[in-house]
Amino acid sequence: MDASVDRIANPWGGRTPYPRGAPWPYRVDTYLSEQNDPADVERWVQTASILHSDGDAMDVAVRDGRMVGVRGRAQDRVNRGRLGPKDLFAWQANGSGDRLARPMIRHDGQLVESDWTTAMERIVSRTKGLLEQQGAGSIGFYTSGQLFLEEYYTLTVLARAGIGTNHLDGNTRLCTATAAEALKESFGCDGQPGSYDDIDHADTIALFGHNIAETQPVQWMRILDRLEGHTSPRLVCVDPRPTPVARHSTVHLAPRIGTNVALLNALLHEVIRTGRVDHDYLAAHTVGFEGLQERVKDCTPAWAAGICDVPAARIIEAAEIIGVADRLLSTVLQGIYQSHQATAAAVQVNNLHLIRGMIGRPGAGVLQMNGQPSAQNTRECGANGDLPGFRNWANDQHVTDLAGVWNVSADAIPHYAPPTHAMQMFRYAEQGSIRMLWISGTNPAVSLPELARIRSILAQDRLFLVVQDLFLTETAQLADVVLPAATWGEKTGTLTNADRTVHLSEKAVEPPGEAKPDLDIFLDYARGMDFRDKDGEPLIGWHDAEGAFEAWKRCSAGRPCDYTGLSYDILRGESGIQWPCNAQAPNGTERLYTQGISWAHPDTCESYGKDLVTGASDGVVDYQSLNPDGKAMIKPAEYLPPHEEPSENYPFQLTTGRTIYHFHTRTKTARAPQLNAAAPEVWVEASATDAAALGLGEGDLVEVRTHRGSLRGHLRVTDIRQGLLFVPFHYGYWDTDTPAGPGGQTPGRAANETTVTDWDPVSKQPLFKTAAAALTLVQRGAGPPAPAPTTTASAPLGHVGATEGGPTARVRQSSNPPNSTRGETT
Ligand code: SF4
Repeated sequence: MDASVDRIANPWGGRTPYPRGAPWPYRVDTYLSEQNDPADVERWVQTASILHSDGDAMDVAVRDGRMVGVRGRAQDRVNRGRLGPKDLFAWQANGSGDRLARPMIRHDGQLVESDWTTAMERIVSRTKGLLEQQGAGSIGFYTSGQLFLEEYYTLTVLARAGIGTNHLDGNTRLCTATAAEALKESFGCDGQPGSYDDIDHADTIALFGHNIAETQPVQWMRILDRLEGHTSPRLVCVDPRPTPVARHSTVHLAPRIGTNVALLNALLHEVIRTGRVDHDYLAAHTVGFEGLQERVKDCTPAWAAGICDVPAARIIEAAEIIGVADRLLSTVLQGIYQSHQATAAAVQVNNLHLIRGMIGRPGAGVLQMNGQPSAQNTRECGANGDLPGFRNWANDQHVTDLAGVWNVSADAIPHYAPPTHAMQMFRYAEQGSIRMLWISGTNPAVSLPELARIRSILAQDRLFLVVQDLFLTETAQLADVVLPAATWGEKTGTLTNADRTVHLSEKAVEPPGEAKPDLDIFLDYARGMDFRDKDGEPLIGWHDAEGAFEAWKRCSAGRPCDYTGLSYDILRGESGIQWPCNAQAPNGTERLYTQGISWAHPDTCESYGKDLVTGASDGVVDYQSLNPDGKAMIKPAEYLPPHEEPSENYPFQLTTGRTIYHFHTRTKTARAPQLNAAAPEVWVEASATDAAALGLGEGDLVEVRTHRGSLRGHLRVTDIRQGLLFVPFHYGYWDTDTPAGPGGQTPGRAANETTVTDWDPVSKQPLFKTAAAALTLVQRGAGPPAPAPTTTASAPLGHVGATEGGPTARVRQSSNPPNSTRGETT
């Protein structure tokens, strides 16, 4: 197969069908900007995607010192050469003319260009002043899921042992805090049990709140290829929207928002009632089954149907498919993680696997997925609410061990309470105890709930706000100091995807102007602060990315995420490698828990667990009595109604989510012409029945209003469940007349104008999917349809011209023998 395909019109490209158990055939996707052909490429430089958690391996094409395209790496275990639309086109944002190229500082209320010495001096002197006057608790750091491992690790050391603050979190809190928590609750340790290769072996794939077609498009290509091959798997889809996954499923359940625990309890009820429990597995590897049995004994499909508003017969059908599966792969994402009772629901998916013995074998696995490219790294490195190396903050031995790695006293590492989560950090800033907030690589002025509140927190005079990013984002416009950062392709580092695969991303081109790698910025700061260990030596002894990686290896040694078998040279290879990778597993580890549960023992576990309803932390004594031998834990949960239900004035439920063409707040993807043209503006989805009842039609300008605020967008009429509205969350204000937020002639545009300040009690992940909302007409449409893609979950019910990319979106797909991809090639 050699084809040229419009990958906006056809985001998943051509098929390469394959049968169960066979390796996924490669297909190399290559995109070069119009003016270039392959003969013009001077160098191909190894990297992996930073636009979703797949970690698609690719090479960047370089010519005349500039990026001119990308191609997939054929031998890589993650993508076998394929790339998704964002991988193919978003690199163009690197070359955007509005990149930040010099530091900026606020002067007389305005941001003005400055130089690195002045900007860093401001930050260092403010830090020192605050440390002296108010202590370490006045300083917080909020980072990203898009930097590299080396950067998170350096930030963690300087924040936790240098400053001594407990206030360090990542925006992965918004995304995959629930994945981490669910894994800790069930297995005592974060880290994906399964592997993407489980897609090759599964006979049943259940996707819980996971529109994988748009969030991890390359793994969806893999599922599509299985569906077209012999012995294709059956799909079960739980999603209130008519996603591409739903359209390909044997059973699609579209529950009311906020009722996942009820639905999962009914599925568990049915699997147990029909005797499909693997009692040998339970006896050997788990504790807690009796409690679950008791909890779900009355949770019949009929009971759940009344809560979830799905037919009981469909629940029975789904339970039958899951119950008879020989190799069951389940995947979970934001439909669970950002919804009511997030961790409780995610844990019930783990329970389904534990009671069926579907762990640790090819095709039998759980992917508690990530959404961000390096979310896993923030979690491993302790930049996201845990101590590095999955150490348990409540286990003194773990803290002492970490203090040994850093050569500081254990008291220097805050561990009096769990590390502060992001939502709490913003509350502390609101209340005035946090006086300096350093935000790197993320845009909370668009991405956090209840934006009017967030903007007012960030704009306070008493808060010293440092923002480190590529562009003058909505958040950066409120900063006191803006630091221009280099990004992917302009710096070297590693990133680990959702299935524990570590990739090396090499520097291909120079960053613009004076922009610097995030690592260099953190190292400059550490030097300015002169952080020392207990022998008076520099606390941070490394000077570059490889040095940081080597330091991290020492920190990870002996822990579940053991990197000691890896090096930059080893990663300059044909494929990424899955941790743990060490002397016992020099080629990496495809699946965890193949020989039973290995990290849940009270002495080694990352957490002693929490109550799934209240979030209250258990202590070591509770844990020891529940799980003295370190088995997997089956934890039941009671269904509770969502906190905010529809009412007379707010009759709809509102959910938010993403489209395949954009990432986060469009900071990068809106600067890639093909991606921006495919989904240029916010839209609002409603069902045909609801639209008709309100006299609304496709393309009408409508307003969505909640207790918090409102936004306006054009209406897309779809097959979404009745009573539900959907708004994509990507759209902020930087490309409007009022670039920091709504105002003047610019109405609300961001979905988070409307979302609620509320979070899951266990994972502290904010809830973006449970608001009660009203929908009203602003202006009758003048003919054009909503600016929503026709290719994805936003597909219209009526006839609307198809979304296409045209000549500039054509991508070469080839199954000719793969390019040599060992290291950098010329
Ligand atoms: S888009 Fe969603 S899944 Fe992706 S990183 Fe953001 S919150 Fe996570």
